[in-house]
Amino acid sequence: MVPTKEQLTKYAKLAVTMGVNIQQGQALFINAPIEAREFAHYVVDEAYEAGAENVHVNWSDEVLTRKRYEKEPMHVLENVPDWLVERQVGHVKNGGAVLNIYAPNPDLLEGIDAEKVAKSTKAQSQAMKEYKQYIMNDKIQWSIVSVPTEKWADKIYDHQKNTEEAIEDLWKQIFQIVRVDQNDPIAAWNDHNETLYQIRDYLNDKQYDALEYKSETVDLTVGLPENHLWAGGGAVAENGASFNPNMPTEEVFTAPHRERVNGTVKNTKPLNYNGNLVEDFKLTFKDGQVVDFEARKGEEILKHLLDSDEGSTRLGEIALVPHSSPISQSNLIFFNTLYDENASCHLALGSAYPTNLKGGEKLSEEELKEKGINTSLVHEDFMMGSHDLDVYGVTKGGDREPIIVQGEWAIKE
Ligand code: ZN
Ligand code: ZN
Repeated sequence: MVPTKEQLTKYAKLAVTMGVNIQQGQALFINAPIEAREFAHYVVDEAYEAGAENVHVNWSDEVLTRKRYEKEPMHVLENVPDWLVERQVGHVKNGGAVLNIYAPNPDLLEGIDAEKVAKSTKAQSQAMKEYKQYIMNDKIQWSIVSVPTEKWADKIYDHQKNTEEAIEDLWKQIFQIVRVDQNDPIAAWNDHNETLYQIRDYLNDKQYDALEYKSETVDLTVGLPENHLWAGGGAVAENGASFNPNMPTEEVFTAPHRERVNGTVKNTKPLNYNGNLVEDFKLTFKDGQVVDFEARKGEEILKHLLDSDEGSTRLGEIALVPHSSPISQSNLIFFNTLYDENASCHLALGSAYPTNLKGGEKLSEEELKEKGINTSLVHEDFMMGSHDLDVYGVTKGGDREPIIVQGEWAIKE
């Protein structure tokens, strides 16, 4: 299926209105790969239509990104110029919204010196720390959507289809998953958000002391901090505008206690970390920290991720997704975290969202840590859900209540 103008308009409108929910007179910063040029044009049209002013598109070109890693010396890669930072920080400080069109080639940096990538990534995270805080704290509206690109589509279908067919099929999958194929996608999203809010509210009322995970590949206990908050579906920015940070989204998630994670977990889908894949890995946690790890593929990449800082060896997010989510039903591995994380229960190494703690967005890093909320330069989701996963909530009194049984919601309302 080649997407029609009507479908592209519908998708762009959905991203602009349900995604970032751009407000009258608000500035919009769009990050997009050059391959998404056509779709970005639709998005810009819809943004102006919705009243945006000062719409800026920041194009990226993966061929140039790879060349940069190949040719630039370390001292350049480790140095992020102030003007690059200012451009983004200035935008969010002035109350602008951000839309990311995310469609990376999962193998982009394969074969590039892992240390080079790790050091450059760390430098970028450090330089963009202030910007990231605007995002992680929902100070402004932000959203992520994906569109097919050649390299990405080829990876998903592993050259079983020619590139053109792969792209067409991926469009079809995306439209189904983000509900663009429905008559009224916005109404469908509102209904979907309601379902997620019900689960979120149920778990918030419970205030479990810990969650217990059990399956063939997981044996893990995750303590939850006092006054943790579950989130899911839409969020609300400082200006009061509600927005959907991820399209698609199927998860409800909260922050774990950074010192109360014990046991082992294997991933169930590959992790795409900055243009490299990490596959079949296992992490062992003790008192919140990864004390042992192994990976069949990309072990060095995983090691660099864990070495980023103190917080990168700890968890910052636990997310629940039923195994029957529409994305799982596609039976595809997307090699794209936005899609794969919404097909599977997942955890994230690194920083927590301060919004997952009551009043968390007003606390300093030190204060967050004291309350058990992890901080780090990285936040990397990895998938660990499966058809045989059971998740139990442990009450403060020590009772165990089912939340997910055999991969599906088992909450008793
Ligand atoms: Zn998540
Ligand atoms: Zn995450």
